[in-house]
Order: sequence, then structure tokens, then C-alpha cells
Amino acid sequence: MSSDRDDPGSTLLRDGERTKMIAAAADHLAKFFDILGIDYRADHNTRETPIRVARMFVEELLRGKFNPPPDLTDFDNVESFDELIVMGPIDVRSTCAHHLMPIFGDAYIGVLPSTSGRIIGLSKYDRVVDYFSGRFQIQEELVQHIGQYIMARTLPRGVAVRISAVHTCKTQRGVRASYRSRMVTTSYFGALSNDERRRDEFLRECSLLERAPAYG
Ligand SMILES: [Zn+2]
Repeated sequence: MSSDRDDPGSTLLRDGERTKMIAAAADHLAKFFDILGIDYRADHNTRETPIRVARMFVEELLRGKFNPPPDLTDFDNVESFDELIVMGPIDVRSTCAHHLMPIFGDAYIGVLPSTSGRIIGLSKYDRVVDYFSGRFQIQEELVQHIGQYIMARTLPRGVAVRISAVHTCKTQRGVRASYRSRMVTTSYFGALSNDERRRDEFLRECSLLERAPAYG
């Protein structure tokens, strides 16, 4: 096991390690079921559940922990574009680190390119969001991880990341809040950290994008 240089939270698995991990996790889930008195051996509904859940954790819910981070192939900023670029909504599907319950919502990313720097393909931002969402997360850190990675790999002048999300640990348990109850977190990096005018521009664009009609 090793981790990526710009992403200490990653655990890159070698051949065979993934299969062993799934088998060991299934074993422990089976014990967990035994403790809860869920008879996965006889009940046809839960018979394969320990292995199914183990696979789901390793291959899907933790997809951004056990796979390499997205390669941000870039292009020269030939037109020297230096205005704020805002993208979103980008789907967020993550898992809460406190309760292991789904988090879902929308991300918005603002990038202030460097005229001498490089820009990346639009879909790469979606991939970065999905990658860091594929772990046990808390939303305050998720915006940080996304922003820091884009800063480190593409060297723009500044980045802004805003996420508005529903936490099912709050809707399905505890106070059982409404699905309309969202949490919003925004983080600024580089030149955007202390540029009030650009920050306002970013937030204004986010609310316009939030209200934009869906096409198709
Ligand atoms: Zn939670």
C-alpha cells in the first residue's frame, strides 16, 4: 500500500490486495451480522449481503481512496484567459465519516486561471469532485480536499469550492430533518482568499447556476 504525493488520504492497492481486503471485510461483516442476530446463512434476502457490502465499500463507496487520483491532463492557456470560470452543479455523492450514511448534493467550482499557466478539460473538475467524494468524508474537509488538489495540480491563481448537500445522517436518523435541509460550505484558495469582488462574483454565479433550468 502507498499513497499519492498530492493526496495523503489515498491508499493505492497492489494486485491481490483488493481481493484480500474484500474477503477480510466480508468476514467481519458476517460477524457483525451474527452479533445483530441477522441470520445471513439461512435468510435468502441477506445470504450474500456480507460479501456484497464488503465489495460495495471497497469498490464504490471508497472508490476515491483505493484508486489513483484523476490525471489532470492540461492545455496551455493560449488565449491567456484571466477571468473567473465557474462550473456547476456537479453531482456530489459521498459517505459521511461519522455515521457512514450517504451525503448527496451539488458542487460549484470557480477557477481564476493563471495567464502563464495551464487549463484543464471541464470534465476533469467533475472527476476531482467524484474522487474526493469517494471516501468517508465530512463536508468541511471535502471542499478543502477538492480545492487543494486543483491548486496543487493545475497552479491557477485561485480556486473556490462550494458544496450544498443533504446529509442523510440528519434526514433518516437523529432529528429526521427534511430533505430540503442542506448544509453549505465554501472554501477559497490562492488569490480568491482575499479578493472580495471575485468572491462575490463566484457566489452570484453559483446562485444563477443553482436556478438555471435543466436541459435535455
Ligand atoms: Zn453524519
